[in-house]
Amino acid sequence: MNPPGSVTYPSLFFLAMRSSMYTNKFIQRFWSKVDQKGVNDCWPWNAGITSRDYGQIHVRREAGKVINHKAHRVAYTLKKGPTNDLEVCHTCDNPPCCNPAHLFLGTHKENMDDRDKKGRQVVGQMYHSNGKAKCAKYSEETVKEIRRLYQEKTPKREISRRLGVPQTTVRHIIARRTWGKFE
Ligand SMILES: [Zn+2]
Repeated sequence: MNPPGSVTYPSLFFLAMRSSMYTNKFIQRFWSKVDQKGVNDCWPWNAGITSRDYGQIHVRREAGKVINHKAHRVAYTLKKGPTNDLEVCHTCDNPPCCNPAHLFLGTHKENMDDRDKKGRQVVGQMYHSNGKAKCAKYSEETVKEIRRLYQEKTPKREISRRLGVPQTTVRHIIARRTWGKFE
C-alpha cells in the first residue's frame, strides 16, 4: 500500500529500469561493433542493420522473444542519458552512425520553435507518420526537390547552393542512403 497522498510514477520506474539494463559485458560488446573514428566523424555500426538502415543489437530474450535495441539509441543512452521515449535524431542524417556527438533528442515542433526563439541551433524536428515519431531534418518537399533537380541534371553543388543543404547531405539523399522513404 502507498501512504496516503503519495503518487506512483510507473513510467519513471520503467525508465529507471531501462537505463540500468545494460550490463558491462553488453556495453563492451556494443562499442566493439561501432567503428569509432575521429570526434567529428560518423561512427558507423558494423553489425546488424534494420530495414531502415539503423544499427540494431540483441539485448536479451524475453518470453521467447528476441529484444533488439536500435544502436544509435543505445549510444545516446550510454553517453548522454535516458531518451525518455523521445526519438533520437542524427545531425548527420546517417542512420547507422553511433557517434554521440551526432545524436540529439527529437522534440516536438513547439519545443523546437521555442529553442529557435532562444537562439539555439535547430537541427531537426520530429514529425509523425503512421502514428510513429520520426526525425526530420529536411522536409519532404526539400528532399523531392533535390531529387527532381538532380534528374534535370542540375549539378550537386548548384542544388546545394540553391536549397541551402550541405553537399554531403545532397549526395546522401540522391544515393538514397537517407530519406529513401520519400520516393
Ligand atoms: Zn554521424
